[in-house]
Amino acid sequence: LVGVVVAVQANYYRVQLLAGQASESATELLCTRRSRLKKLGQQIMVGDRVGVEEPDWQGLRGAIATISPRQTQLHRPPVANANQVLLMFALADPTLDPLQLTRFLVTVEATGLRIVLGLNKKELLDEDQQQQWQDRLRKWGYQPFLISLYEQAGLQELQQQLQGQLTVLSGPSGVGKSSLINNLIPEHDVRVGSVSERWGQGKHTTRHVELFDLPGGGLLADTPGFNQPSTTCRPQALAQYFPEAQQRLAQAQCQFNDCFHRDEPNCSVRGNWERYPYYLTLLEEVIAHQSEQDAIA
Ligand code: GDP
Ligand code: ZN
Repeated sequence: LVGVVVAVQANYYRVQLLAGQASESATELLCTRRSRLKKLGQQIMVGDRVGVEEPDWQGLRGAIATISPRQTQLHRPPVANANQVLLMFALADPTLDPLQLTRFLVTVEATGLRIVLGLNKKELLDEDQQQQWQDRLRKWGYQPFLISLYEQAGLQELQQQLQGQLTVLSGPSGVGKSSLINNLIPEHDVRVGSVSERWGQGKHTTRHVELFDLPGGGLLADTPGFNQPSTTCRPQALAQYFPEAQQRLAQAQCQFNDCFHRDEPNCSVRGNWERYPYYLTLLEEVIAHQSEQDAIA
């Protein structure tokens, strides 16, 4: 039997069987892992495709015997085989902070996964303001999906992006991530509202990553741990995570291969684009982080 690990709990794995293999009694098996895998030190992650042996007579339990090679692998949160990240922000309430959005975008770009950008609460802005954000983000190199969960607007277009994919949901709190999950998966009731009230401090540290089935096909990872951006790349790599910089580099190389795009002569990235000041801000942080690491080493 072949399936996908949808949740990891202590030493148990919930495995969703691929279509056509489900027995009459269950589409999911609660599995342990074969000791051979344990000896090999092979970790099993949510999103892993696994081979299951010895389903018991009721077809409810089994043992994971093999793990397929991973297409992609995220560490924080631990998710295997994700295709894309759905980055959610709100256009208002909380006010969309372009530097914060850039931090998240850079963090997601660094995973190498495709980015689907969803901007919620569009009903709080008038049409002109909505259009301005559309245009602005296009210039950044993104095609945002403007939605309103309150007004049920724009959801189909967004949903289409998720079909057949394993999507990791990310974004700061208060933008409507839980509301989106409730909307996409009505029978699954994530609590909407204040983090501290409902979940306590531990919301993003103690909950486990879990994959949810999307009605249109596809899986969504609601992911504690991916709601905090971090820039820990090499300084020279940072420009890779800005589509505008990539576009400029495609047109003309910098004089120096290891250009920081800061004050070097004949730099083609430095210039009059909106997020260049953000690039410089993040560059300083990345450099500071690196010197800390060097000091430790
Ligand atoms: P999360 O922290 O990202 O999971 O966000 P929640 O789903 O908990 O939503 C935060 C707040 O935004 C809640 O009060 C929601 O009711 C509200 N909210 C969700 N969607 C919308 C929307 O489309 N428009 C407006 N105005 N508020 C929304
Ligand atoms: Zn340069």
